[in-house]
Amino acid sequence: MKKILLLGAGGFVGSHLTIELLKRGGFSLTALDLTHEKLDEGLRRAAQFEIEDTRAEDTSGAINRMVSNIQYVVLDILASEQEAELKSLISEHDTIVNLVAVCNPALYVSDPIYTFDVGFRANLKVFDICAELDKRLIQFSTSEVYGKSPSIYVKDQAFHFNEEESDLIMGPINRHRWIYATGKQLLERIIHAYGIKHDFRYSVIRPFNYIGEMIDYLPSQKEGSPRVFSHFMDALLNSRPMKLVNGGHQKRCYTYIKDATEAHVRIIEREEACDKEIFNVGTNDNETSIRNFAYRMREIYDQEFRLEGQELSPIVDVSGKEFYGEGYDDIDRRLLDNSK
Ligand code: NAD
Ligand code: UDP
Repeated sequence: MKKILLLGAGGFVGSHLTIELLKRGGFSLTALDLTHEKLDEGLRRAAQFEIEDTRAEDTSGAINRMVSNIQYVVLDILASEQEAELKSLISEHDTIVNLVAVCNPALYVSDPIYTFDVGFRANLKVFDICAELDKRLIQFSTSEVYGKSPSIYVKDQAFHFNEEESDLIMGPINRHRWIYATGKQLLERIIHAYGIKHDFRYSVIRPFNYIGEMIDYLPSQKEGSPRVFSHFMDALLNSRPMKLVNGGHQKRCYTYIKDATEAHVRIIEREEACDKEIFNVGTNDNETSIRNFAYRMREIYDQEFRLEGQELSPIVDVSGKEFYGEGYDDIDRRLLDNSK
């Protein structure tokens, strides 16, 4: 049975991936994270679906079947005192899937050093151990490594980011939002260089705005500033204003997490075909401006979920500086070449 260590398995993408691998079977999994709340919730839901599908007796029986091939580890990959344990875990597995990062733009702006420490320093340590022990590494990077679209220079032209061809256009240093993207970019460059020189086995995944169940906590549930979907949902549930940053003209393409997970599983399964490859994972089918996204979400909420008498949220404009603070910058458009 192939042994896979998933770092960051308790996050949004990690929970979906771990559960899908468990459902398929044939893997022995170790799920490492600071917390496993989301993964537990996902397993409970997956077991519930299994019961509905198969008329199985109870949720605990279904959960027990799924969790028999998984081990939970709570470990902080930044902590130097836990490095020996991390190394020992890596040594016991065949494939390492690294999803750990600080991944929300509000934190890149409010705490750029923490963003760098986790996204680069800690992940470099994971890479170093994998290189030393000759382990296959699947590194989650980001569509943000492409930076701004060239359409900011050449108006009205659609550019599709390509893994082998596209230039990577970052903003100035005083826009420290880019520390996340530049950290991920340098990590990719180091992994690639080792691939050439030492035949290091790796695949890099660049996700393009995934969306789906368990994406982020709502700001009214838990401290912090999540990604846009959870901000808008929170505003709708609490009849508060939905805030459009800098007019909401920037565009994104959204990919359903279960479709993305299918791609992640295939990359894990096809070691030889995917070796030393970088993959854009996403679709161009759902491109929308954030303004349009807000109006569409409000319309659906109004039609499907609004309680009688509940006030519908107003949609208001705010500046990036007002919403995120000094150092914010944005990506105007994010289309991808997903032919690979
Ligand atoms: P997430 O924040 O939900 O998951 C990241 C996980 O890493 C969290 O569960 C967190 O607890 C864990 N973590 C953070 N610091 C840690 C530490 N020091 N030690 C151990 N665990 C730690 O994010 P996600 O959306 O699941 O993203 C997963 C990966 O995909 C990230 O690398 C991210 O950069 C990349 N990505 C995701 C998207 C997307 O659309 N979700 C887009 C671009 C890139
Ligand atoms: N945004 C917004 N209102 C919010 C939160 C975010 O208009 O309440 C904008 C943000 O400025 C960005 C887009 O929505 O242009 C997507 O932001 P998100 O944080 O989801 O992640 P990104 O795609 O920028 O990494």
